[in-house]
Amino acid sequence: MKNILFVISGPSGVGKGTMVHRLLKAGKLSLSISCTTRPPRPGEENGKSYFFLTRERFEEKIKERGFLEYDEHFGNFYGTPRNFVEEKLKKNSVLLEIDVIGALNVKKSYPEAVLILLAPPDGETLRARLKGRDTETDEQLSERLQRAEFELSKAAEFDYVVVNGDADETEQTLREIISKEENANG
Ligand code: 5GP
Repeated sequence: MKNILFVISGPSGVGKGTMVHRLLKAGKLSLSISCTTRPPRPGEENGKSYFFLTRERFEEKIKERGFLEYDEHFGNFYGTPRNFVEEKLKKNSVLLEIDVIGALNVKKSYPEAVLILLAPPDGETLRARLKGRDTETDEQLSERLQRAEFELSKAAEFDYVVVNGDADETEQTLREIISKEENANG
């Protein structure tokens, strides 16, 4: 059996967080924790939500090739720490939840990663899920839907595409993928 880096990706609102949470519950998988230069929000603990780094330290880490991928969002850096993931992989398979661009960048720096794209059953379902959150203005909603279309256009670059209709079925499919990959030869 091998320990594998599973990258769970997909558009905002598709249910990545819920699935990662469900998969972690069984206890056999580790979660990758990202580094960021943004300040902690109330209640966020260093090493739990994120590793909070200064911009200087983050830039040093970029030079040291310390990230499997990194990106800038809203003026702050975010990255997947290579050492942390490699240490976790010594014990268990690792789950990494990230957007589609991030996922494709991980594949470039770590080709052994298995990329899973979660897709909505259809555009209407995604729109309804994003609306249900009630955190988006109409403008944000249409931006997110446009972005979702772009992200789903990258499906062919993923190892698996799983349509997230019924949550129990999706969880089961993901568990099957994980066990198949962990037990594959070669
Ligand atoms: P927040 O500051 O709200 O926690 O996250 C802002 C954005 O950063 C989210 O879209 C989140 O998905 C993204 N993000 C979090 N960690 C990483 C990471 O390690 N790499 C990349 N590329 N994006 C990340």
